[in-house]
Amino acid sequence: MLNLDKELKGKSALVTGSSRGIGAAMVKALAMAGANVAVHSVGPSEAGEAVRKECASLGVKTCSLHGDLGEKDVPTQLLDACAEALGAVDILVLNASIQFRREWCDWHTEEAETMLRVNVRASAEMMTQVLPQMQKAGWGRVVTIGSVQQNVPNPAMAVYAATKCAQLSMAKSFALQVAADGVTINNLAPGVIQTDRNVEALADESYRQKIAGLIPSRSFGIPEDCTGALLMLCSEAGRYITGADIAIDGGMGLGSH
Ligand code: NAP
Repeated sequence: MLNLDKELKGKSALVTGSSRGIGAAMVKALAMAGANVAVHSVGPSEAGEAVRKECASLGVKTCSLHGDLGEKDVPTQLLDACAEALGAVDILVLNASIQFRREWCDWHTEEAETMLRVNVRASAEMMTQVLPQMQKAGWGRVVTIGSVQQNVPNPAMAVYAATKCAQLSMAKSFALQVAADGVTINNLAPGVIQTDRNVEALADESYRQKIAGLIPSRSFGIPEDCTGALLMLCSEAGRYITGADIAIDGGMGLGSH
């Protein structure tokens, strides 16, 4: 049964990249379900502090964590700092990512490496570090945030799409290996969600209409659209779901029609 009232009370949750956008909506949803939450961003920001305060106003413990996931040791530092402030991480949401838009023939090694470091290496390091303690506790939830581009790549984001596929592949592999220990790992794959990262692209009316035309629901999503599936996966209602890849995309992943 899906009863989320304080269902996650006492659990410790870290959502990477939760100062804005989808991450902010998700960390607030976890706090509403009673989890103590870590709000993370690259550096201190008013937006991040506002999110943390909103979560704290719900009566849960909170902390602010900062660090660029492209930098060595930051994944470990974030997990350690979260454990110190809130207790060992029970729920890890790997939401932060870097996205550079560039045509495939316009290769840029530095950008590609940055995407690989943040979207793949940091996710791998955080999962491998957090899973043993979740296995020991006999309970844990990891949710990776992928993209519709796992299946429907955008011509200007080949490397980004590849990093999301890599992250999904790792999530499935790890899910298989920890399933017997009460730990689930699932992927949410958003389509076009209105956040800071696509404000500029969607401001172009002809691009906006072209993209809307690729979405069967004919509408863009909002960050809160990603919270229902997240809460379901993190609650006991989701205990038997692992290794799944759940689209939140208005049908965009179904392809053109
Ligand atoms: P967003 O609005 O761009 O927010 C990005 C968040 O990640 C911010 O909290 C930011 O912190 C943090 N961040 C950025 N670079 C970082 C780095 N190097 N290290 C650590 N944290 C970093 O993102 P979003 O649109 O909500 O997307 C969230 C997730 O959904 C991403 O994984 C994205 O790939 C995926 N997604 C989004 C869409 C979409 O349409 N929006 C579609 C498919 C998938 P600061 O505030 O400090 O910069």
